[in-house]
Amino acid sequence: MKTEDEKYCVECGQVINVKAEVCPLCGAKQPIFYANQPFQQNRSIQDDRWLPALLFCLFLGPFGGHRFYLGQIGTAVLQLVTLGGCGIWSLIDLIMIIVGKYKDKDGQYIKSPVNNN
Ligand SMILES: [Zn+2]
Repeated sequence: MKTEDEKYCVECGQVINVKAEVCPLCGAKQPIFYANQPFQQNRSIQDDRWLPALLFCLFLGPFGGHRFYLGQIGTAVLQLVTLGGCGIWSLIDLIMIIVGKYKDKDGQYIKSPVNNN
């Protein structure tokens, strides 16, 4: 259980002291502004796949570059042979990535710094 002077580690999810800047268990640096939010919401910080995915989509979108990068091989190949659905499909993907609504093969959102909700 978590009390008032404790918080969850953003990396390992263990309960640690609310003033801890570094997790004593895993050594992860703690963002202070997430201090009083539950662990689940702590995971909404930007996904480090976001920028590469965005760049792949931007430059190689019609070839399914971002889907290959994110391991979505099936739809990546489909996108490649249709040239990104004549550019429309890859354009939609690009928008979804920018606003943080793009999901990887496990159904996890690729979190964007543009929209952190
Ligand atoms: Zn930790």
